[in-house]
Amino acid sequence: MTKKRFIIFTKIYMKKIRILFLLISLVSCNAKSQSNNKHGKEYIVAKSENEWRSELSKMSYYVLREAGTERAFTGVLNYNKNEGLYVCAGCKAPLYESKYKYESGSGWPSFDRGIEENLEYDVDYKIGYPRSELKCNKCGGHLGHMFNDGPKNTTGQRHCINSAALIFIPSIE
Ligand SMILES: [Zn+2]
Repeated sequence: MTKKRFIIFTKIYMKKIRILFLLISLVSCNAKSQSNNKHGKEYIVAKSENEWRSELSKMSYYVLREAGTERAFTGVLNYNKNEGLYVCAGCKAPLYESKYKYESGSGWPSFDRGIEENLEYDVDYKIGYPRSELKCNKCGGHLGHMFNDGPKNTTGQRHCINSAALIFIPSIE
């Protein structure tokens, strides 16, 4: 290959690469704009607010979809000590195991750890200072908050979860 030919070849080649990069950036911008929903994240389980409203109880909708908090000591699972699995009331994803539930005295079901792959950690400023918000990683439903005043002999974490965000599935003996 002569020097001149090599330069022409390089120029054509560079042009092709530039077009390729342009195409990639167009595709990625498009993908980005599609995922920019209210939470900036797409969840595996996605439903319209009307669908959620018709499927969930009033309290579960208030907690999961509106990030509400049930009144302390009112949730049916607060004192539940049976063995089993706690799943998301919105999408049934397994979130907590009964062996990690403990009595915190807070008035809400408390766990010292959750099933990490199904939990999402976010931050909210609802009461003026940042709190670590816990959400279901599959449907984006609000579950509760995480605090660092949990049992010191285990994880030190307190996952303070609304009863209405959970469904309890007892273990079969
Ligand atoms: Zn869920």
